[in-house]
Amino acid sequence: MMTCDALIVGGGPAGSTCAWQLRLAGLDVIVAEAVAFPRDKLCAGWITPQVVTALRLDTEAYAHGHTFQPITGFRVGLVDGHHETRVAYDRPASFGILRCEFDHYLLQRADARLAFGAPITSIRMNGGQWIVNDAIRAPMLVGAGGSGCPVSRMLNGARSGGPLVVAREAESRLDAPDRERLAVEQEVPELFFCRDLQGYGWCVRKGEYVNVGLGRLDPRSLPAATARFVAFLEARRKIPPRLSWQWRGHSYAVNAAPRRRIVDAGVLLAGDAAAVADPQSGEGIRQAVESGLLAAQTIVEAQGDFSRDRLEPYAARLEARFAGAPLSGLGRMVPNRVKSVVAGRLLNVPTFVKRVVLDQWFLHRHELALGR
Ligand SMILES: Cc1cc2nc3c(=O)[nH]c(=O)nc-3n(C[C@H](O)[C@H](O)[C@H](O)COP(=O)(O)OP(=O)(O)OC[C@H]3O[C@@H](n4cnc5c(N)ncnc54)[C@H](O)[C@@H]3O)c2cc1C
Repeated sequence: MMTCDALIVGGGPAGSTCAWQLRLAGLDVIVAEAVAFPRDKLCAGWITPQVVTALRLDTEAYAHGHTFQPITGFRVGLVDGHHETRVAYDRPASFGILRCEFDHYLLQRADARLAFGAPITSIRMNGGQWIVNDAIRAPMLVGAGGSGCPVSRMLNGARSGGPLVVAREAESRLDAPDRERLAVEQEVPELFFCRDLQGYGWCVRKGEYVNVGLGRLDPRSLPAATARFVAFLEARRKIPPRLSWQWRGHSYAVNAAPRRRIVDAGVLLAGDAAAVADPQSGEGIRQAVESGLLAAQTIVEAQGDFSRDRLEPYAARLEARFAGAPLSGLGRMVPNRVKSVVAGRLLNVPTFVKRVVLDQWFLHRHELALGR
């Protein structure tokens, strides 16, 4: 039986960030991860500057050998719309990364012991210690296994409430003539809202690849909405016609009341397992990293007493950091019947697109990075 001070289930950004901080504080940490890294992960691969700061990422060193693409603007419009608003920033407003590289880099940097290749399927408590898969024993357990995290299932049951974002994504390599022809700038991702404001699609160029996806709060309409979005992008010459897209889908819970249970004696949840992703943009990497930092801070401060009372401050920290993100801000701002008309008009107003849609809802520029 392997033993450690803290066992983290899941080696994504939430798990690796928590492991990194616990290791810096001198704890013996094991990260148990279902698959071997580097692993692929369904994601547009867009991170905000707050992520870079919170991770203390040396961007120059990272960019050496990894994809790290500055994003200096956005184009925003409506699916089927005739107008796009282009917003430019005078310094990078975000960065494009590849999740297989990024997650692997963070996990290696964490310097924890790794238990790869066996999904955690059994968790039980024995004499104040967690015993996982009958193979690892620890007094402290962190559930960072994403949307299907077994630790979250243990605390909350199979269906833990709250709205789900369902998303489909496909990435395709472009040949040289297509790269020349297409009307998508590499440093300017394109975002297109669905007319009912229940989701949005993106079209992002990353080197020789184009990444297209659509996320919605309504799972039933996703296939039809995706087909419509692809037809729209083809008509606007943003993707080549009749490319065969290999769609992959995923769903994850976003930050909305009622919050699931995230703390108990000897256990915390972080990242998608805690349902902290942003309900408007679907951004989840920043929230995973930040919840990983806050979880580690709480564990270190507990000084080996992992009673519920000593871990409870984590819930308040998470609430303070992520509370108040209203579900689908644009959708809530206007009554249903006039939504699409009003949205169409607002998305034509450059100051609204920049100050509200991008700066507030997507980039959270008013929120300082954690740890600043
Ligand atoms: C299509 C799509 C596009 C997205 N684009 C973006 C984007 O551009 N920017 C952004 O910020 N967010 C984006 N997100 C959200 C983001 O990907 C997630 O919020 C983020 O990955 C959450 O990180 P995490 O560490 O909590 O979980 P994950 O990154 O999901 O990591 C969880 C890890 O746990 C492991 N695991 C699962 N079950 C077990 C088990 N039983 N035992 C052991 N290990 C287990 C998994 O293998 C995985 O490696 C996107 C999501 C989707 C679906």
